[in-house]
Amino acid sequence: MKRIGVLTSGGDAPGMNAAIRAVVRTGLEKGWQVYGIQQGYAGLGDDLMIDLTARDVGGIIQRGGTMLGSARCAAFRTEEGRKQAITNLVKRDIDGLVVIGGNGSQTGAYEVSKLGFPVVGIASTIDNDLYGSEITIGVDTALNIALEAIDRLKTTASSHHRAFLVEVMGRDCGYLALIAGITGGAEAIVIPEIETDPEQLAVELRSAYNRGKAHAIIVVAEGARYNAGRLTDYFKTHSQRLGFELRTTQLGHVQRGGAPGAFDRLLATRLGAAATEQLSKGNTGVLVGLQKGFIIATPLEEVVTSKKLLDTSLFDLARVLGK
Ligand code: ATP
Repeated sequence: MKRIGVLTSGGDAPGMNAAIRAVVRTGLEKGWQVYGIQQGYAGLGDDLMIDLTARDVGGIIQRGGTMLGSARCAAFRTEEGRKQAITNLVKRDIDGLVVIGGNGSQTGAYEVSKLGFPVVGIASTIDNDLYGSEITIGVDTALNIALEAIDRLKTTASSHHRAFLVEVMGRDCGYLALIAGITGGAEAIVIPEIETDPEQLAVELRSAYNRGKAHAIIVVAEGARYNAGRLTDYFKTHSQRLGFELRTTQLGHVQRGGAPGAFDRLLATRLGAAATEQLSKGNTGVLVGLQKGFIIATPLEEVVTSKKLLDTSLFDLARVLGK
C-alpha cells in the first residue's frame, strides 16, 4: 500500500477531526501518502482530494464538525456513481479508503468493498445506531450537550412549576433520549422502541406533581411516533382536560456542534489508528469499533445486515428513578 484516502460522510459528529488526524498521522508513519477527500462521497465522485501532511491536521483535535466537510450524496447509491468514485481513486494510485461515518456511510463502504476496492470503516455517528461498535464517535459529546440543556431547563422548570419537553436527535434510535433522560433525571422518556400513550404520559406527569415534584421533564427522541411536535399538539388540544401544557425545546443540531470531550477524542484516535492498521494487514471490508473495551474489526457485511438493539431494561430503570 502506498496511498490511502480518508473521508467523512453523513451527519457530522464531534470527534471526526480526531479520527482524520489519527488516520493521517498513523498512515504517514507507515510511509504512506494520505489524501483527504472533501464532502464525503460527493467529493469522491467529483475528485475533490487534497494531499494531507502531519501539519495539515494540526489544531483540529479539539474542534467539532469535520475539516473535510461531509455530505449526503444520492449519486453514490447508484453503481455508476460508485464506479466513477473508484476510477478517481485508481487514477491517483490510491489503493485503500477509510470511511468515517454512520449506518448509511458504512453501507456505501460495503458497496465499495464489493467492487473489490480495499476499504475500512470507522464507527462515527451521534445516533449510536451502528452495529459493530457499542458506542460510536460523537455520542458521548452529544449526550453531554443534551444534559447541559436539560440541567438548565430543570432550573427554570422548578422555578415556574412547569412541564418541559426536550427533543433530542437520534433518527430512528432512542439511545440518546434514553441515556440523556436517565442521566438528566427526567420524569418521563419517549423513544421509538417503546410505544407511548400520551394519556398515560399525562397521568405520570400529574402524579409527579402530586408526589411533590416542582418540575417535570420529558425527554423525547425525534424518531418516536409521539415526537415533540405531536406531543405538544396533543397536550395543547387537550389542555383543559389534562390540566397543563408542555413547553417544548428541540435541541436539533445544537447537539452536534460541540467540541469533542476526552472520551470521543480518545475513541476517535484509537479507531483512526486501528483503521490504518487493518489496511496495512490487508484486512479490508471491515468496520473498526469499540466492543467490551477493545477495538474490534467486524465485516461490513455483518454491520450493514444487522441491527443494533437498544437495552430497553434501562427504560424500566428510568421509570423507577424518575419517581
Ligand atoms: P448519520 O446517521 O450520522 O447521519 P449516516 O452515515 O447514516 O450518518 P446517511 O445520510 O444515511 O448518513 O448516509 C450518508 C451517505 O452514505 C449517503 O448520502 C449516501 O451517499 C451513502 N449511502 C447511504 N446509503 C447507501 C447505500 N445503500 N448504498 C450506497 N451508498 C449509500
